[in-house]
Amino acid sequence: MNISSRQSPDHAPEHKNLDRETVASLPKVVLHDHLDGGLRPRTVIDLAADCGYDSLPTTDPGALGRWFVDAADSGSLEKYLETFAHTCAVMQTRRALHRVAREAVEDLAADGVVYAELRFAPEQHQEQGLGLREVVEAVVEGVREGEKTAALAGRTIRARVILCAMRHADRSGEIADLLVEYRKEAAREKRGYVVGFDIAGAEDGFPPSCCSGAFATLRRELVPFTIHAGEAAGIGSLEGAVREGTWRIGHGARLYEDFTADLESGIEPGHVSSFVRDRQIILELAPTSNIQTGVVDDLADHPLPLLQQLGFACTVNTDNRLVSGTTMTDEMMLLVDTFGYGVGELFELTATAIGGAFIPEPERREIMETLIVPGWDALTGETTETTRRTATGEADGEPSPTLTPAGDLEGIDPQLLAELGIDPGDLFPGN
Ligand SMILES: [Zn+2]
Repeated sequence: MNISSRQSPDHAPEHKNLDRETVASLPKVVLHDHLDGGLRPRTVIDLAADCGYDSLPTTDPGALGRWFVDAADSGSLEKYLETFAHTCAVMQTRRALHRVAREAVEDLAADGVVYAELRFAPEQHQEQGLGLREVVEAVVEGVREGEKTAALAGRTIRARVILCAMRHADRSGEIADLLVEYRKEAAREKRGYVVGFDIAGAEDGFPPSCCSGAFATLRRELVPFTIHAGEAAGIGSLEGAVREGTWRIGHGARLYEDFTADLESGIEPGHVSSFVRDRQIILELAPTSNIQTGVVDDLADHPLPLLQQLGFACTVNTDNRLVSGTTMTDEMMLLVDTFGYGVGELFELTATAIGGAFIPEPERREIMETLIVPGWDALTGETTETTRRTATGEADGEPSPTLTPAGDLEGIDPQLLAELGIDPGDLFPGN
């Protein structure tokens, strides 16, 4: 997929002021969503009762949901990590893992997500004796069931799984080997639910090189991976991730640390960030989470719009739906309300996300053509043939200038179009 990450230009007035209902109805893609950070509060309480876990701060679902968000908001890393101690404590049986995975898929589907990659660290679910494979199988079965129950509710979603290794735990080689085995089996049996690898947990003090053996295995076996970087640690961690050959970066918000700015040339990415931009390494940004973990003080300071303007391959994600009290619709609405994002920018984020998914290209294309583009067509009321062609790289040999629905190109400075080599007549044949 020929994904351009050029920021989309101004939008036609009717596309401004996207409301929540509209954004909720749009087909969305999430690449970065932690299974253990996205449980329903009610489920945490039920599972705690099932397994005799009595350390929850409350057993009222509403109050528990608020407690998770407040704890994550507190600015205390201890409190933030405590939230995951509770969720992981109740996810120690096949039944519990199956339920959490199924509900995650159902909840994402209900939010209009049509493709999701859910991630979790199998090693964190072995306290009651489950083997790594049992953990993964329970989650995969839950995901498959979630796809089916979502379909019964009239929602189409495809969900896949990323296996994380915890940076501090020294088991990344084992998890990478497990993933490689799964990928080989999946290729034989044509059922690829486990699609990629990630390292999670404390970034500061555990640079990507802590897991270099795992990354070497994955590179050798041609299995894609992403790396949490540029969140709790800065440009050094990002450089480490790039050096490991990462396909995507979990967050990457702190790429701006090697930017320079002057009056003549404006803002210029530095050595590491230029590489990330030029290679179009996908950034899995999650604005609410980035505020909670102190990457930025408030949303208005979030670098996502700047990164998108500078040509980075940006996506927007939930990270932890329970802990951040968020959904994909919420994250997109934050961008609409704070930065005036319109349909063009949101479509670009979505197209970049599906382009960076760890599934095979024909599947990405199918999702783009059968789910995403029709949904945006329904919004704009226009034929987004241009959108489809540019997003899928079928630009009749011409450059793919932007990913915005055609209507959003109206009103662009004709000189800019000329510089880009675009004939407005091609885009708006009726004009
Ligand atoms: Zn994350």
